[in-house]
Amino acid sequence: MPKNINSLIEGYKKFRSQYYSGDSAVFEKLVRHGQHPKVLMIACSDSRVDPAIITNCEPGDLFVVRNVANLVPPYQADDSHHGTSAALEFAVCNLKIRHVVVFGHSQCGGIRALVENADIPYPSYSFVSKWMELAQSACDQTYQNHPTASLEEKAHHCGHYAIINSLNNLMTFPWIVDGIQQGNLFIHGWFFDLSTGSIDACNLKTGTFEELGASREM
Ligand SMILES: [Zn+2]
Repeated sequence: MPKNINSLIEGYKKFRSQYYSGDSAVFEKLVRHGQHPKVLMIACSDSRVDPAIITNCEPGDLFVVRNVANLVPPYQADDSHHGTSAALEFAVCNLKIRHVVVFGHSQCGGIRALVENADIPYPSYSFVSKWMELAQSACDQTYQNHPTASLEEKAHHCGHYAIINSLNNLMTFPWIVDGIQQGNLFIHGWFFDLSTGSIDACNLKTGTFEELGASREM
């Protein structure tokens, strides 16, 4: 049963007693020394895939961007408001994070809608549809390479291709390319399977996904 707002208020009280009193000095340190996370996670907004919970992280460990279907747009120095690119820039250029993880997952509503070519539920303009155009090439690739697969399987493949697409888009940001070339920055593509709890990581050389931690490439 999902929590309602009153449960969140109870949770907040528990959080304060855990992190702001007693022996725990987690936030005291984070306030005194600032944040120095080493990892940027680009994850989906889906309520089931909180990267901090899945990777057993504490406050201060992860710099996180969450958007629909964990997509990275290409570098576009135009006059629009680019939220994900702004977070990327801050994490890479200011915080000097060492790792960028594109964190996808199974059963993703955004990916599923793309694969199903679902109708837009809004008559005028859909921000979701426009946003998901970023993954259209992943969808096209899915239909090209797996024409007979079920919708479920197509969504799975498309989730993988969309991660690879986002990794490629990361490489359009000049300061990300610089960081990688200097050996200061590493990019990763992870795919979390909701039904098994396992994470597969993209082998950047082959484009295939293997269990996280199984290879040094990860
Ligand atoms: Zn999702």
